[in-house]
Amino acid sequence: MLARRSILSPIAVLCLALGTVFFAVSCGKESAPPKEEVPRSVVLVTIDTLRSDHLGSYGYPRDTSPFLDRLAAEGRRFESVISPCSHTAPAHASILTSLQPFQHGVLKNGQGLREEFDTLAEQFSVRGDNTAGFVSVGFLSELQQGFETFHAQWQTGDLTVDRALDWFRSRQDPTRPFFLWVHLYDPHSLKGPREKLQDDVAFLRAKDVDESARFIDYLSSNRGLDPSVYPSTERLLERYDTYDAGIRFADRQVERLHREIASQGSDTLFVVTSDHGEGLGNHDYGDHGRYLYREQLQVPLILWGPGITPGVTDRLVRLVDIYPTVLEWAGLPTTVGGREIEGYSLLDSPTPTRSLSPRLAYAQRRPKDGAGHRENWEDGEIRSLQTDRFKYISHSEAADEFFDLEADPWEMDNRIDEGSSAEEDLRRLLEAYVTGSVGAETGEDGSEDGSEDEATKHDDELRALGYL
Ligand SMILES: [Zn+2]
Repeated sequence: MLARRSILSPIAVLCLALGTVFFAVSCGKESAPPKEEVPRSVVLVTIDTLRSDHLGSYGYPRDTSPFLDRLAAEGRRFESVISPCSHTAPAHASILTSLQPFQHGVLKNGQGLREEFDTLAEQFSVRGDNTAGFVSVGFLSELQQGFETFHAQWQTGDLTVDRALDWFRSRQDPTRPFFLWVHLYDPHSLKGPREKLQDDVAFLRAKDVDESARFIDYLSSNRGLDPSVYPSTERLLERYDTYDAGIRFADRQVERLHREIASQGSDTLFVVTSDHGEGLGNHDYGDHGRYLYREQLQVPLILWGPGITPGVTDRLVRLVDIYPTVLEWAGLPTTVGGREIEGYSLLDSPTPTRSLSPRLAYAQRRPKDGAGHRENWEDGEIRSLQTDRFKYISHSEAADEFFDLEADPWEMDNRIDEGSSAEEDLRRLLEAYVTGSVGAETGEDGSEDGSEDEATKHDDELRALGYL
């Protein structure tokens, strides 16, 4: 819905005062919006649970992503992209609203958005564009606000892309612009149809003991992994082989989607990204959701289409920046009715007038609940705020952490209380940002939005996926 409320808080002034070092940097213009005033279509692809460092274009030595690497070479690749939550529904809700989880209120899977927020799909609908979403888990149906066509089912990505292409081919008016969201789940580790990955597992698997040893040494030297967290070399390789095979499988599906849609014309922007990463053993944790370390939050982002200048953007960007970027590219307003968003367009030079600088990336952990596999999780809330150099992680029930990302990119050496001025700046900014925005009045625990009842509709699927 297009209800209006201001998310911008008075705390912006405080943030500006505190964070001069973070705000004062000019962000160069990497891409120009298209000059022609013609409606343009957008395809948003989210590949669930995709760590950016497992794509070839982000430096991974395995051949997991031949198509996405080509797309990145032809388009713009963003090197450092931070998710606001290491959990599926909250991160996707942030992509679709440009709001943080504590602002939109979707804090865990199965929860839905309140109607007052303007989703990306709704912005396209206002112009009369076709809007369609095809997602590979049922619980994301709670985010279908604004889509005139939506299909949500737990399935492999080939079937999801089949459905999306069927929709694309059967549109009544092929000249009408569209916004299409396709979500693929194949890299996700939870139980599911894995037999389709076997060819990719065989392709990627180390061919002999020496190759295995070199790969494990690479992970240890370059990816912050302590191999000893795995009970055996075989288990480590099995985990990585399966994860990487899921990426390679998804890569092929995105290629199918792109090949057919891009061949129909040159007026379509492709946005490929992910909702969060995966532990894979970093910080002695295999999955996602529990922590806010780099392997949980850093995801890829590739833009491809007319008006997108090829190249690589190194500076920090956030998933909340996708919303204004897509709207600006499509020639749509980035705010409606005065509602403020958290993102900045990546097509133009951002101006530091909102509540959080584009140089800062915020994240929060999903709530701990009664699920058995979350029994050992730390109680309370965990939140983080980072620049491209430093990262502060706040724990309500444990000691805070601070990392120098230049010296320690995988966040293994906690330097809290060593006297860094950046530590104190980030701590104060994080506190001001969270306490000064709308989280409290919108029900930070998700209990005021009625979505707990909604969540029960998906309990069977969530249990089967291992979330409950
Ligand atoms: Zn996810």
